[in-house]
Amino acid sequence: MTSSFQGFRSLIENSPDAISLIDSRGQILYASGSTAKVFGYEPEELVGRNSLDLIHLEDRVQMSRVLPELLAIPQSTLQWHARMCRKDGTCSWVESTACNLLDRPDVNAIAVNHRDISARIALEAQKKEDADLLARSYILVEEFAHAVAHDLREPLRTISAFTELLVHRMDLDDQSQKMAGYTVDAAARMSDLLDDLLLLASSGLTELPRPVELQCALAAATQNLGRAIEECGAIVTADILPLVYGNSGHLVRVFQNLISNAIKYRSKETPQIHIRAEQRGWEWVIQIVDNGIGIAPEQQERIFGMFTRLHGRNIAGAGIGLAFCRKIVEAAGGRIWVESQPGAGSTFCFTVAAAHPAAASLPPQVAFA
Ligand code: ADP
Repeated sequence: MTSSFQGFRSLIENSPDAISLIDSRGQILYASGSTAKVFGYEPEELVGRNSLDLIHLEDRVQMSRVLPELLAIPQSTLQWHARMCRKDGTCSWVESTACNLLDRPDVNAIAVNHRDISARIALEAQKKEDADLLARSYILVEEFAHAVAHDLREPLRTISAFTELLVHRMDLDDQSQKMAGYTVDAAARMSDLLDDLLLLASSGLTELPRPVELQCALAAATQNLGRAIEECGAIVTADILPLVYGNSGHLVRVFQNLISNAIKYRSKETPQIHIRAEQRGWEWVIQIVDNGIGIAPEQQERIFGMFTRLHGRNIAGAGIGLAFCRKIVEAAGGRIWVESQPGAGSTFCFTVAAAHPAAASLPPQVAFA
């Protein structure tokens, strides 16, 4: 009995938390040796003082309500965070947990555990500041991209229209006609690029997620790609897809970009594209498997960068599609990557949050582009 009592005592004395016993008025009856580590006071300096004296002045009024609340219910436990003062005058954030054991004859006191959480609070504040900074820079970049894309449109239209007019009005030789044609083509390509930039800039990633039937998002994407699918005779198949949590318009866009790429970067074989879904904990991993030309391992990270293309002008594209997919998926807290080997097809994978079963009763949202 004595040895187990000694054991408990040594546990309390050596705990990294400060442990104390207080009476119904908040007077400190006992303070463990570890109070010196948390507050800088030796236990004998604290015994007899009121525990409220240690609370920072600005938090004191609020904390004075804790004791009556605790006294109201015997055996109840309360937890709170407050700034507490150390002997050297500095303050730290302390998480306190108190249990009302006044009705226990062997204790007859309130047991309080104080843990210094300043490092945790500072880390959380830093994380929030970083997230705010990132959100602000996202908005600035989007506004800038929007303004640039918008302002470049007008001069581009003028270049294209007046070049065409010149070709019609003047008697140009074949060589000059060809050069004028290049100018008009280049203006058209730049216009497509601006369309993608505008779409990217106005993608509204701050929208709140909702339950989305992934099956409907895929149906919308394949419907939008109907002509491209038909032209090359692509076979698109899918598992039964789940209800997820996200933005329907964005998910349609991700499917559309990935399936369109599977068609564009096809091999000599008929394109076969299969969409798989596999649940891993709270998220789903969605895979878009193709039998296309494949991607070399050293290029697999690069292709998600803005304006990165591995192919020339013989295949249409601006190198924005995958960057857009990454932006959408990551903004929703997911990941996107590709597994591939040249000549052996590619599997593009992305994760999306699983919808809570209760969400199934809400109307799923799907936007057809
Ligand atoms: P775009 O298709 O407009 O060039 P993306 O950002 O969609 O832009 O794709 C970037 C590059 O990644 C493409 O230019 C292509 O080289 C490569 N790529 C994308 N999807 C596939 C795929 N399914 N198979 C092979 N290569 C691909």
